[in-house]
Amino acid sequence: MSKLAAFGGTAAVPKDRRGVDWPLIEDEDRKAVLDTLDGGRLVSNTEGVNPVATLEANWAQRFGFDHCVAVSTGTAALSLALAGLGIGPGDEVIVPALSFIATGLAPVHQMATPVFADVDPVTFNLDPDDVERRITPRTAAIIPVHLHGAPADMDRLLDIARRHGLAVIEDAAQAPGATYRGRPVGGIGDAGAFSLQVTKNIPTCGEGGLLVTGRAELAEAVRRARQFGEVIESGRDRDYVSHGLGWNHKMNAIQAAFTTAQLARFDEYERQRQHNIAEFLARLAALPGLRVPTTLPDTTHVWHILRFRFERAGFGLSDDVRPAALRSALRRLLRAEGVPMSQYQLMPLPDQKVFVDRVGFGAGYPWTLTGNPAAGADYPVARAIIADSLTLQKRHLNPRSGELLGLYADAFEKVWTNRDAVATLAAAAS
Ligand SMILES: *Cc1c(COP(=O)(O)O)cnc(C)c1O
Repeated sequence: MSKLAAFGGTAAVPKDRRGVDWPLIEDEDRKAVLDTLDGGRLVSNTEGVNPVATLEANWAQRFGFDHCVAVSTGTAALSLALAGLGIGPGDEVIVPALSFIATGLAPVHQMATPVFADVDPVTFNLDPDDVERRITPRTAAIIPVHLHGAPADMDRLLDIARRHGLAVIEDAAQAPGATYRGRPVGGIGDAGAFSLQVTKNIPTCGEGGLLVTGRAELAEAVRRARQFGEVIESGRDRDYVSHGLGWNHKMNAIQAAFTTAQLARFDEYERQRQHNIAEFLARLAALPGLRVPTTLPDTTHVWHILRFRFERAGFGLSDDVRPAALRSALRRLLRAEGVPMSQYQLMPLPDQKVFVDRVGFGAGYPWTLTGNPAAGADYPVARAIIADSLTLQKRHLNPRSGELLGLYADAFEKVWTNRDAVATLAAAAS
């Protein structure tokens, strides 16, 4: 049994093998950016074919979306989708208690109140039963998140939405390319939001977002809203007439050109990633007390983040030991071996200060309009997941990370052969 690196042994992942980049920036990406600089079409409202329109067309075509509108960020895509669907002051929007902060902020940006629902212990996505419990006469929409790249239970969520007359906006920021019963996520509800932020599965060289929808009038509303409320038509000079509430949420042409180049390599990357991750998870699945991420039947997971849950019984620990103590022990030991395990979200979204203090737009808006619909609610599953899991991020997105993932698996196996040491550390910290 080899000595753990935390106690002076040799790390399973040598220091010089740890550096794997994401995103990968290749010559095609550099050329796309330089061609844009030289092409003179630097914003989405330039006449004729510009890089922003090209990205919109290619994204829609690759995944099979009817309409795609490029915006400044994924958060803007969520926010403008809500605005375009007429969701605003006095409305409630149900969002998962486990997600990135933007999912909860987007309703607030439209003066709607986010109402959190608990998540499923296996998929980490919205629990439809808890969604149903949170519905009130003010509920106007649900935002399912395809967290970590795993599709949410869309059939059940759409059924709830239909019965209660609610809009469904998919937060697909972490899941481009994921499918649910053969359909691309983002294109299943009324609208879908993607993020091109530099760490996402299909990145840009900075910030970007895309709104997709099957509804032409919603696409037009978002197109106006991203551009000060103006209507931009090819063959007609910009007239600077604003037709309604607008923002400046346009995508930058350089960001668009970079993503178009990345999108052209997506299928090849995705094939390699699926292969690498399947091998990695198959090795880890054999370890006792470790729950590896899985996917629902008839869905494709795109593995944006790999989340592992740890079970005390697998380490011979009783329920008196806090789950967080086991998590901390494993974090320390795996990191010492060279596996960069980290926590993703330190608390459920409703515990974030913005939702606890509810200052909002001063004087407590939007909550002063709706009251606090979730008063007294708790989120036991989201809390349990946060307490007993750790994540791997970014490195496995590199299609050439297969070898590195093999070393990570060696590290897990090494730590697991020292399960007694893990248990001793966890028990001492409890
Ligand atoms: C990244 C992300 C967003 C926000 O996207 P930005 O482009 O960073 O604004 C929203 N929701 C989820 C789940 C995300 O991971």
